[in-house]
Amino acid sequence: MMPDPIRKPDFKRLNFYRFLTIKLTDDDLYPHYSYGEKFSLDQIKTFWRNTVKMIKDKKAPGKLGLYIHIPFCHQKCQFCFCDSYIPSCYKVATDYLSLLKNEIDVFKNIFKTVSFTSVYFGGGSPSFLKIKDLDGLFKKIYSSFRIRSDAQIIFEGTPRDLNSENLSLIARHGVNRLTIGVQSLDPKVITRMKRPQTKRDFIQVFKTARRLGIPYINIDLIAGLEGQSVKSFLSDLKTVLELGADMVHVTGFTPLDHTPFCRAGKKLSLKQKKNREIMIQRSHEILSRFYRDISAENPGRTPGAENVQETDLRKENSSLLGIGYSAQSHAFGQAWYQHPHVIMMKKKPLYKDLPPFAGVRGSLDEEMRKFLFSNLQRGFSRRFFCRLFKKDVLNVFKRELFELVRMGKLRIEGDRIISFIRRRQDFLIYSKYFYSPNRIRSIFKVHEKEYDENVDYQKKLDILYAGTD
Ligand code: SF4
Repeated sequence: MMPDPIRKPDFKRLNFYRFLTIKLTDDDLYPHYSYGEKFSLDQIKTFWRNTVKMIKDKKAPGKLGLYIHIPFCHQKCQFCFCDSYIPSCYKVATDYLSLLKNEIDVFKNIFKTVSFTSVYFGGGSPSFLKIKDLDGLFKKIYSSFRIRSDAQIIFEGTPRDLNSENLSLIARHGVNRLTIGVQSLDPKVITRMKRPQTKRDFIQVFKTARRLGIPYINIDLIAGLEGQSVKSFLSDLKTVLELGADMVHVTGFTPLDHTPFCRAGKKLSLKQKKNREIMIQRSHEILSRFYRDISAENPGRTPGAENVQETDLRKENSSLLGIGYSAQSHAFGQAWYQHPHVIMMKKKPLYKDLPPFAGVRGSLDEEMRKFLFSNLQRGFSRRFFCRLFKKDVLNVFKRELFELVRMGKLRIEGDRIISFIRRRQDFLIYSKYFYSPNRIRSIFKVHEKEYDENVDYQKKLDILYAGTD
């Protein structure tokens, strides 16, 4: 019989929580926007008016991010899980930019009394845009919103698209953290990935960005790609370190269902998974020699090198206004929501097509749960939690936290909650202890028919996470 997650959560039925873990780690993170409700544009505007008031009244974190999504790329890389596509012609991009500008106009008045502390141009590849259009987008943002003079402005680009012209432009517009999506420099791997770039192009782009004075350059690398050997991965890492990247973000290739790799029916072999594990381990060892541990995932040279928007969201539940397809937003205390995914849009983009947004209503309880999801694995300060939520975490989640202490997964030392949750399989802890009843209810509505108590979901977890811990 299926456990009843709504009236009486059965914490002994681990198999059920393993099922949830499998379902949800290949999905958006808690509170799982896609299992929520639809919001109209008017509702979204009301959420933001409330959050802005809370920020001004110091009842919400003061950090506020702006995220702009540019979904276009010149190619679709085989490993890519981003919401990106190749437009049929450049006019699709200019139409989309008009949509972004309309959307900025819809929100600008709501935000006129508060300042953004970070701006992130992500994608896709924002570097896909032509100079004139990129320039127009920056000008529109700067003339519509108040951006703090010390804000971090992040821009993502690929070695194929970046050049002295667009790098000069973004440097002039104050970009102070450039992320170059390199992924691999091995010609054999690059060909299999369907990603036109060369090591020479990349080195040129890196040196140009440095010459133009962009203070922080982050490099993204992927471990475990098709055709990639441990030797070629380590050689890429060496190149990036010798150039003096301020931060290196290494991600293990996880073949999610919507990657072209999986859609082509491919699977990683055990040997590839083993190699991926070795690459990640070696990269951690090597990076820890060069970089201080800014955060467990992204070691970098100095604190300025980290992705401030991501850190603010994770560590402080900051608010984030997302603009454009698939952009995610968080209006503190009100809602988490997401624009429709680009892959769902079949016709010419028009702003009226964007709503309704899919999302989840916020509350203080959900904000506290979200904080635990984001911080439990690394540990956190009780005082900091109290500063954010005006409550002691040990009172709010007493039963759950003490059970984890008893299991040896946590230790409480005065102000510090020290975590021993390390393995990805431990994600189970989150679904078992910290999902709110409302979240479980809405997720279960979607997946109820798929749950089969006779299936051993532990075995599935072992396969899913082989080589990733
Ligand atoms: S990996 Fe980057 S460049 Fe490649 S398709 Fe995805 S978003 Fe575009």
